[in-house]
Amino acid sequence: MTPLPRQLDGISKSVGMSTLALHAGELHQKPGDSITDPIFCASTYTFSNTQAVIDYIQQGQEREEYGRYGNPGERVVERKLAQLEGGEDCLLFASGMAAIVGVLMTHLNSGDEVIFFDECYHRSREFCSKHLARFGVTTRQVKACDYDAMERAINPRTKMLVSESPTNPHLSIVDLPRFVELGSKHHVMTLIDATLATPFNLRPIEAGVDFVLHSATKYLAGHNDLLAGALIGKKELLDPVRNLRGIMGSINSPHNAYLLQRGLKTFELRMQRHNANGIGIAQFLEAHPRVEKVYYPGLPSHSYFEVAQRTMSGYGGLITFLIKDADWRATADIVDAVKIPRIGPSLGGVESLIEQPMVMSYFEAAPEDRLKWGISDNMIRLACGIENTDDLIEDLRQALDSTVRR
Ligand SMILES: *Cc1c(COP(=O)(O)O)cnc(C)c1O
Repeated sequence: MTPLPRQLDGISKSVGMSTLALHAGELHQKPGDSITDPIFCASTYTFSNTQAVIDYIQQGQEREEYGRYGNPGERVVERKLAQLEGGEDCLLFASGMAAIVGVLMTHLNSGDEVIFFDECYHRSREFCSKHLARFGVTTRQVKACDYDAMERAINPRTKMLVSESPTNPHLSIVDLPRFVELGSKHHVMTLIDATLATPFNLRPIEAGVDFVLHSATKYLAGHNDLLAGALIGKKELLDPVRNLRGIMGSINSPHNAYLLQRGLKTFELRMQRHNANGIGIAQFLEAHPRVEKVYYPGLPSHSYFEVAQRTMSGYGGLITFLIKDADWRATADIVDAVKIPRIGPSLGGVESLIEQPMVMSYFEAAPEDRLKWGISDNMIRLACGIENTDDLIEDLRQALDSTVRR
């Protein structure tokens, strides 16, 4: 698919990402002559008379009807995200998970199969194995970025290939041209969860992917203050998902849509700092004697460095690293000694967050499952915010130097 030009109404030249993030999808002159969009706190929208209702139904007029189907502010954000991603259409959801559930429920039927790369968000995996299975959909998992294994798993029932890129927490990078080629060769839809990359660092639609999915909770909103999900793709593939969203009620609220729109205004500036913090801190960690290994796609030591160089324009703020000769408690001591990043799940916000995946997401999991998913006891995941790089480095240095092995 040829990428859509990054254009704004009335400007013939293609514009940059910040200009787009600020203005795309918005009216030039808004209600009340306000520079910001209004938040319509409405569950329902009224009609002036009976004929107006009939006209709306018969002519398919574009207007609001009931809050579960759409609201004006949410549509502004959908237009903006579609343009930022270079896709035809966008659907906003109450959360990233609501977006995943929505697209899979819409496009998979009983008897169908979906293939996942195995490094994936644990709730996506849980939805497929526990819930889609109840409706007769089979999920096959193959090793992340093993395209031959993925091709071997494809059969006439296969409907969709799904992966994150980068994956979480190992930051493996999908070779998008190879992934897309598998889909088109076997006539199977492709979906990339590009939450960790964002359209600033990765362009899946331009590579030919059918669906791009985001937990907009993360970098797109960027302020650790809301949950949202987004699905971008061709209108004909999104229309049935929009219909199911209207039934499931998984649309976002007008207030959240506004906060997301506001967060997006600084999208490019934030991503520049997230990328700078990511590479700067990854380099610092790699050189520190207490660090055994750093997973960061911008480091030449990373297994997917070459793919990342070829497919991405920056590597984001998420860094995963292992502590040398440390059990889970010694690793936790380091997490506890860090002063600026707060301990918590999530990523992509302006405030840095740190966590030990073994404790935060897999504490109750069986040790053999943790091993299978590559979650080691000495693993730390740092989601760099937009604090100054030197401050974060100094903080990590004191945490690594002040704690002891045990
Ligand atoms: C957080 C996350 C999700 C889930 O999104 P929510 O907004 O929390 O529902 C899905 N995929 C990835 C890669 C994520 O990081």
